[in-house]
Amino acid sequence: IEEPVLKEEVENVRVFIRIRPLRDAEKTLNNKRYIHLDRNVLQLLKSNINRTFQFCKVFSEESTQVDLYRCIAVPIVEKVLQGYNGTIFAYGQSGTGKTYTMIGDSKNPDQKGIVPNIFSHIFAQISLANHDISYAVTVTYLEIYNEDIRDLLSEDPTKKLKVQEKPGVGVYVKDLLGFTVNSLEAVDEIITKGNKNRSTGSTKLNDTSSRSHAIFTVLIESKNKVTNKTTFGKLNLVDLAGSERANKTQATGDRLREAGKINMSLSVLGNVISALVDGKSSHIPYRNSKLTRLLQDSLGGNSLTAMIAMISPNILDYEESLYTLMYADRVK
Ligand code: ADP
Ligand code: MG
Repeated sequence: IEEPVLKEEVENVRVFIRIRPLRDAEKTLNNKRYIHLDRNVLQLLKSNINRTFQFCKVFSEESTQVDLYRCIAVPIVEKVLQGYNGTIFAYGQSGTGKTYTMIGDSKNPDQKGIVPNIFSHIFAQISLANHDISYAVTVTYLEIYNEDIRDLLSEDPTKKLKVQEKPGVGVYVKDLLGFTVNSLEAVDEIITKGNKNRSTGSTKLNDTSSRSHAIFTVLIESKNKVTNKTTFGKLNLVDLAGSERANKTQATGDRLREAGKINMSLSVLGNVISALVDGKSSHIPYRNSKLTRLLQDSLGGNSLTAMIAMISPNILDYEESLYTLMYADRVK
């Protein structure tokens, strides 16, 4: 059996848009269509304001989970199996489908998100691989909430963990638990456990909206018993905190402080990615947030990065959609 080969080379950083479908309750006469899509050109039309954006790929309301998986994740997971690093981000206002896109519903084959589909691919590739190669797949799951790091798989998920750096090792989270997985069921169980431990604060916009960034990391080690060659690939699957701005949710106190940290880390992420795409800056500001610091070895260099920015077709979300598209446009 051959090593997986990339069908085509993809760019190191790709930015995608996904439009979630309107919910039944949103299908009212007042909810006039404001998003117009012509291939990958997106227009937002409201009153007489017309904003136009172009992306490498825009996934419409009709797009399926598998469409996104094939286009976005397959090129990345194939590289990771060869020993490269990769990161996929889900960005957007709460309720636009970040968790749906990343995780989806693993019980329903059509609704499986990028993460379960990636694991099906990984386990299939491993079972097909040459018997001289042994693989170990390990996962970790952490969240960054208010710039504090917590292990979502720990028996004490309230404990704050420290970021450390060692020569030869790089940046890592001290005491973060890693679990070896051999089946989709095991992965499912781990994700369910981790998700139960995610911090959710109630905001007026969406009472289950996530105020934390969740990073699910897959480490794939392959060892060739004949040549003794070892490769390490790392894939980060990141469900970012909701991008909505504080004023809309009328946040006060703790919620307002949270919003400040979220805005800060999303803007640092934008700065890092746009500096990487731009390629001209000698300084990439990885150290300005925990998120980018932790992902430093998987952003830039030979790593493949994909950002999926989600938007809502509800006219009431016009401003947030515009803001999301401006963010995505800046990093592309
Ligand atoms: P977020 O994680 O961004 O807050 P969710 O993933 O929880 O948003 O999505 C909010 C709701 O919308 C969920 O009920 C989800 O199932 C539904 N949803 C989101 N995107 C889609 C989609 N593309 N197709 C069908 N349902 C979707
Ligand atoms: Mg979510």
